[in-house]
Amino acid sequence: MFGVKIFYIFIPLLNCGFMLARTNENEDFVMSQDDSYNGKTKFIFITGGVLSGLGKGIAAASIGSLLSRFKVVPVKCDGYLNIDPGTMNPIEHGEVFVLDDGGEVDMDFGHYERFLNIKGKKEWSLTMGKVFDTLLKSEREGKYAGKTVQFIPHVTDVIKNHFFKIADNENADILLVEIGGTVGDLENEFFIEAARQLFHIVGSENCLFAHLTYIPIPKGTKEQKSKPTQMSIHDLNERGIYPDVIIGRCEEMLTQKIKEKIALYGNIPTKNVISEIDVDSVYEIPIGFQEEGMLDIVLKKLRITMPSVANQEMDDWKRLVDVCKQNNKNPRKTLNIAICGKYTQLEDSYASIHEALKHAAAHLNVKCKFEMIDTEKTDTIEEIKVQLAKVDAVIVPGGFGSRGIEGKILVVQVARELKIPFLGICYGMQLAVVEFARNKCGIKGANTAEVSADGIDVKDAIIDILPGKRGLPLGDTLRKGGQDVFLKSGSLAAKIYGAELIRERFRHRYEVNHDYVKRIEEHGLVFSGRSVKEENIMQMMEIPEHPFFVGCQFHPELTSTLLKPSPLFYNLLKMAEVRFDYRLEELHILDAKNLR
Ligand code: GLN
Repeated sequence: MFGVKIFYIFIPLLNCGFMLARTNENEDFVMSQDDSYNGKTKFIFITGGVLSGLGKGIAAASIGSLLSRFKVVPVKCDGYLNIDPGTMNPIEHGEVFVLDDGGEVDMDFGHYERFLNIKGKKEWSLTMGKVFDTLLKSEREGKYAGKTVQFIPHVTDVIKNHFFKIADNENADILLVEIGGTVGDLENEFFIEAARQLFHIVGSENCLFAHLTYIPIPKGTKEQKSKPTQMSIHDLNERGIYPDVIIGRCEEMLTQKIKEKIALYGNIPTKNVISEIDVDSVYEIPIGFQEEGMLDIVLKKLRITMPSVANQEMDDWKRLVDVCKQNNKNPRKTLNIAICGKYTQLEDSYASIHEALKHAAAHLNVKCKFEMIDTEKTDTIEEIKVQLAKVDAVIVPGGFGSRGIEGKILVVQVARELKIPFLGICYGMQLAVVEFARNKCGIKGANTAEVSADGIDVKDAIIDILPGKRGLPLGDTLRKGGQDVFLKSGSLAAKIYGAELIRERFRHRYEVNHDYVKRIEEHGLVFSGRSVKEENIMQMMEIPEHPFFVGCQFHPELTSTLLKPSPLFYNLLKMAEVRFDYRLEELHILDAKNLR
């Protein structure tokens, strides 16, 4: 009897103790989160399954663009351990996108900025490197007060707190979080787990999960197949996440039959299965999503109503998309544009340049065909002349190091001498100045100091390290982000921009050496853009005796959008069209000769 009584007293006590221990533990973990949630922001998470490279960034940006009457803030999570992609070769993950605030971020920010009409911030990019950096610094500062620092809750807390902080700082209506990679990748597990936890904190009506998967049509069966999608839904469910929307990337619209099947496996209504088909222009995707009812699904799930403001932009967007579609099918003119660099094996390395050209092309009602010219492989001027004879404009894009630069310099020479419309971007401008110094000013040893790091003897450093960056270790010495550029009145640059003060984005370590500026200008090259703050930095150049030979130290491709194309790309293509007409006429003459 006595024994039983003790047992009865002891058990509740034990339980109570256990509960206390649990609530204390939970309090630390949950309290900080609950406290941080502003109770207002809605969260949309976009995950991917089956394959990478299905266009999750475009899908996220497209969902965001449908919601752009709200304050939508995009966040990108990447599982790699670099703090940011700034130190990575573009062949790894595509181009490094540069934000106005100087942040070097994933190229998906290019999609976000182009689709959402926003200016991204570096805090909106969260790599696992940043997560661990925050965590380990806090640990060293003693912020964990004697606790064992663990993956859960501490790593996931850092992630959730980051989301909550952005939501708060930006007063966001919607935080659009894209989780990089595919579900099941080890390196992204903690982002997914953090999303799962966040769902429980903010509640179902404040959180939506969209999952992008792949629907193959195998050659033999000629039928849309859902098995890989079923498996990836299963992977997601295993992690405690139940998607509200499933987007099936497929070469054609999803059939009703496959939608029903996926809906059944995904536990969602059939209308919540949306097609994302292969398109010629990514700008078609938001329109496709809208037609498939994406907006209604999101609004309903998150219990929000759309602010009613006239949306002229969507009409303009649709009109331009129609122009692109029309030109893809039946182009009025196809302009051949040469992009001459060393990262030609991966198209994403020059993603923003391609997009900027497409924007300008839509406004000029033409189509652009890209000729990627690998400047590491071309080494004779004759070879380059043959390649450039059939192009309408030449772009030498940004780059680093000595590989492929002599090829680029030859490309510049041919474009200058044969009067082919030319745009040199960043390294492209620097090498244009080097070429001019060598071949027009007779400075035979002209080069950029950048190549001396690779053991090349530089006699005349026409391009030299930026003054403030001298002697610093290479690590974080780039001049990055938005800067003002003062344009020379009456110059082509000023005409192109229709202004004398512009703002563009930079990412460079070297600049035109001021000791040579006078001598170069005496030979007919004009530095038409200069830094306002730092007097000596040459930011733009042009050669007046050439119909269109322009260089810019900045990256105009980063701020171009479908609705507002970059003036530099727009005018480059305008001149390319002139050359196209001329080439066509010349071809006709040749044809006529052949007939006789
Ligand atoms: N490598 C050159 C520099 O550091 C150009 C950089 C670039 O093209 N983004 O200045």
